[in-house]
Amino acid sequence: MKRYYFDYAGTTPADPEVIEAMQPYFYDKFGNPSSLHYFGQQARKAMEEARSKLAEFLGAKEEEIIFTSGGTESNNFALEGIAYANEKKGNHIITSAIEHHAILEPLKFLESRGFKVTYVKVDEFGMVSPEDIKSAITDKTILISIMHANNEIGTIQPIKEIAKISKEKGIYFHSDAVQTVGHIPVNVDELGVDLLSLSAHKFYGPKGVGALYVRKGTKIVPFLRGGGQEKHRRASTENVPGIVGLGKAIELCKDKMAKEAKEQIVMRDRLIKGLEDKIEHLYLNGHRQNRLPNNVNFSVEYIEGEAMLLNLDMVGIAASTGSACTSGDLEPSHVLLAIGRPHELCHGSMRFTIGRFTQPEDIDYLLEHFPQIVVKLRSMSPLYNKDK
Ligand SMILES: *Cc1c(COP(=O)(O)O)cnc(C)c1O
Repeated sequence: MKRYYFDYAGTTPADPEVIEAMQPYFYDKFGNPSSLHYFGQQARKAMEEARSKLAEFLGAKEEEIIFTSGGTESNNFALEGIAYANEKKGNHIITSAIEHHAILEPLKFLESRGFKVTYVKVDEFGMVSPEDIKSAITDKTILISIMHANNEIGTIQPIKEIAKISKEKGIYFHSDAVQTVGHIPVNVDELGVDLLSLSAHKFYGPKGVGALYVRKGTKIVPFLRGGGQEKHRRASTENVPGIVGLGKAIELCKDKMAKEAKEQIVMRDRLIKGLEDKIEHLYLNGHRQNRLPNNVNFSVEYIEGEAMLLNLDMVGIAASTGSACTSGDLEPSHVLLAIGRPHELCHGSMRFTIGRFTQPEDIDYLLEHFPQIVVKLRSMSPLYNKDK
């Protein structure tokens, strides 16, 4: 059966050109970049080339890029690294209610260690208000961390405005840009961030490699200790093939991004409109304009996300749900709850995310099959039949 992938926000396939670029660094050029001999220097050179491609993409300096094992480590590093390096100055951190778990969990840990965290609310579209950030600031605030775009509902945040406020107050500003790097322009100076997280497998690179951008002069302590790699900021032998892959992936995105985003917006909006025309009691989650080019997220009333997911899988369509049962968790998505969706609508949410290899025909296929699945599941739903 032909398979249709609508889960690019979960992960992307590595681009064949990325795989080709990585290949020599497993066997032929396997050196440890810390070694002074030929093999080591060969690996170091490749790694530094990748660093410079990434730095160029972000408008950063090479020495401001620290390679990590991915988005999760970059986020943990940013939060704990800033918190522990600046605890004499203050113990207060500001974030939003809709951050990724890789932000919320380390912050919960920091709260257990005496730090105070303010979680600013978002509006019904998932937007953070810069005014709310401003009013949350105290003389103890050392860090503000707001994601660039949300991974579930695709809402893009007013990062520049928030950065301006944090700069005025002399507070460090971090952004989890895992969903935006490689998809929309991300320039650290234009955004005004001091720290920024990214992950290669979200932009057609390999899994298990990412980076943290840290503006020169930022006071931060390491998260991993045990070696002098990455200028003593991140110990452990570098993932050379992964880093080379990340470099190739960002180089490809630099060339393709603008055109891809344009094409994806056309497919995204056709999918949104098509589903809205064909299915009633359907609610778009996220912002209609300020949203990632590749994100579609709906709450479908009267039915469960898991049921939709499994029925879609049976016809070859891979998507994602904000419902909770699959994760063995009773609570539905904190993001959908934060935008004010009642529990029933959170459990009936579906996310379709498209990408580089999505064809317009794939949208046709989804538009043909998903409404049928909704009709079928609703016909079996006691809730739906009672309301009618
Ligand atoms: C995927 C994702 C992460 C985690 O990145 P990994 O590289 O998988 O650890 C963090 N934040 C956001 C917004 C994400 O989408």
